[in-house]
Amino acid sequence: MAAFGTVFMPQMIQARFSDNKWSESSIVPSDKLELHPGAHVLHYSSTCFEGLKAFRHEDGSVYIFRMDANIARMQQSSELLSLPSVDGEMLKTMIIDIVRQYADETPLPPGSMYIRPTHIGTEAAIGKAAAPSMSSLLYTLLSPVGDYFSGGATALRVLLEEDGMRCAPHMGMIKSGGNYASALGPISAARTKHQADQILFCPGGDVQETGAANFILIDGNEIITKALDSTFLHGVTRNSILTIAKDLGMTVSERNFSVTELLERAAKPGTEAALSGTAAVLTPVGTFIHNDKEYQVGNGEAGPTTARLRQALNDIQWGKTADTHGWLTKI
Ligand SMILES: *Cc1c(COP(=O)(O)O)cnc(C)c1O
Repeated sequence: MAAFGTVFMPQMIQARFSDNKWSESSIVPSDKLELHPGAHVLHYSSTCFEGLKAFRHEDGSVYIFRMDANIARMQQSSELLSLPSVDGEMLKTMIIDIVRQYADETPLPPGSMYIRPTHIGTEAAIGKAAAPSMSSLLYTLLSPVGDYFSGGATALRVLLEEDGMRCAPHMGMIKSGGNYASALGPISAARTKHQADQILFCPGGDVQETGAANFILIDGNEIITKALDSTFLHGVTRNSILTIAKDLGMTVSERNFSVTELLERAAKPGTEAALSGTAAVLTPVGTFIHNDKEYQVGNGEAGPTTARLRQALNDIQWGKTADTHGWLTKI
């Protein structure tokens, strides 16, 4: 099975912004871009993206999950990066058009079609280190993906990092390339030094998120996760899981909590911890590493509540249970 995100549909959809307006969208080959080497994005990182999925149901119809939430976040990212503002209706039509084009190639569950809208500043102006790009390119790639947990849901080893941070705090809620570049060095070091799979960034002791996923702690009937603020990415999966947890009668606590509280709770039998994001939905955490000591979460293995919440979300995505929140768009 090819690694996640390495197979692409041969065509993508794109639209260009210049002279203060968006072009008509067009479907073009997905294996090349024509870009001036002085393009703003290549020098000053004017780039943001989204990640969402389309699912095939048993009757063959294809649905996109929470597209409006991802479009709203793309608009927010673009605005915070001073990129041209994205017309939400236009992007929605683009996404539906390209997903429809490859509807027949949308994998059956547990696979899906991963959708990657991307927005980049294209103005050739290397003098614009402190000024926005006046032109941009918005394109959407498609990548069919398989079962994230084909080898079973193995619990991750996660390093708790209190000294650094994932990205500059005012960039936290922007889904932008520079933030991943900023976290890559620390994550690579955590892999070699601690055999950690991820870093959970906890600046000043405040439990935040990992390099590309939100963090939730499950203690009995309660879910605890950091309250939304502008320092971290507002995950659509996070919001979906919290909504489902409330539906299931769980207590949802969105509040700040410390590394000390996290480690105290993690030691209790029955506690679970998980990372949430579109690619894997919920990935269990089995071990925390903190100041060179290891702490097992619960029994150190994937827990039942994590599995139940993931299944409940998959059931909606896969059309096996009612979509009571109106999260699916039929294409
Ligand atoms: C994409 C992302 C998430 C998860 O967001 P979803 O909308 O759930 O996929 C969380 N944190 C970071 C830093 C991300 O890039």
